[in-house]
Amino acid sequence: MRAQRRHAWAILALPLAGSALAIGLAIRDGGAPWQALAILGVCYLLTYAGITVGFHRLLSHRAFETVPWLRNLLAVLGCMAAQGPAIYWAANHRLHHIRSDRDGDPHSPRIAHGRALGRWEGFWHAQIGWTFNHTPADVFANARDLTRDRSLMKINQRYLWWVALGLAVPALAGLLMLGDAYGALLGLLWGGAVRLTLSYHFTNAINSVTHIVGTRPFGGRNTSTNFWPIALPTLGEAWHNNHHAFPTSARFGLDWREPDIGWWIISGLDAAGLARNIRRPAPESIAARRAAAADQRAMPSPSVDPGPSVDLGPSVDLGRPDAKDSDAQDGDEDLAA
Ligand SMILES: [Zn+2]
Ligand SMILES: [Zn+2]
Repeated sequence: MRAQRRHAWAILALPLAGSALAIGLAIRDGGAPWQALAILGVCYLLTYAGITVGFHRLLSHRAFETVPWLRNLLAVLGCMAAQGPAIYWAANHRLHHIRSDRDGDPHSPRIAHGRALGRWEGFWHAQIGWTFNHTPADVFANARDLTRDRSLMKINQRYLWWVALGLAVPALAGLLMLGDAYGALLGLLWGGAVRLTLSYHFTNAINSVTHIVGTRPFGGRNTSTNFWPIALPTLGEAWHNNHHAFPTSARFGLDWREPDIGWWIISGLDAAGLARNIRRPAPESIAARRAAAADQRAMPSPSVDPGPSVDLGPSVDLGRPDAKDSDAQDGDEDLAA
């Protein structure tokens, strides 16, 4: 637990301090150079793809398969986002699906350590607090399949190297693009500190915001929502109610009105022959689930308001080969390759 707390402090406070310095220097200098902002954009996109395409869709849910070098590259890019080692991230995330908004969910805004949380306390817990005090996920219980992948294990064990590489690369880019040590510092601050601050808070907004506000087209036995304002910066993660309804789907934004950059990346990999066995729900299945959720909403509600609904609709498996304690009910027949 001490290691958890140290990591939590480091990933919260250090990038925040670096971001404050970056903004302070930009004010003093009359703006940040475009090169520093370009480094931020590219590093954010690559490392966030490591999280949503790599850690989440590929490793946690096995929503598609890819060639070993790309699987390893995505795992390294995900580690550079400093949200924990790949296998731990996946084990912890699978626990979120298995125990969604019930005791044992590592970052529910509804409940923590057996105690119901108020709205703002719940927001704080799901956004930041959980990183300091969640019960560590059992990697061997929840991600045993990933521990059998030897190259993934090696990448996992070198987690701190990749975090350091995620700082060294933007610093080097700053040095090359701006030509001096101050340029390297700006590269480090914008491509390292500001990037980490943004990716930390956008990822945790999926735990907090998209379990508190937004729409619930598929209902489900959890409080997950779709919340469009953060769809672009989360590369499609914000279609979180869709994701809880179809966890093994590689596509989170289920129609053209739901932009999903992670899905566009996977489609690009598919076009390049680098992705296969891509899992997606069949259109009839999406329509049936949407209709079932609408029927449930239309049912007469009790006279006493029970608060935000935690209805018990169906869900699908997690993509974990040995998934059993999940809210799985209608399984793979929902999925078209
Ligand atoms: Zn969730
Ligand atoms: Zn998930």
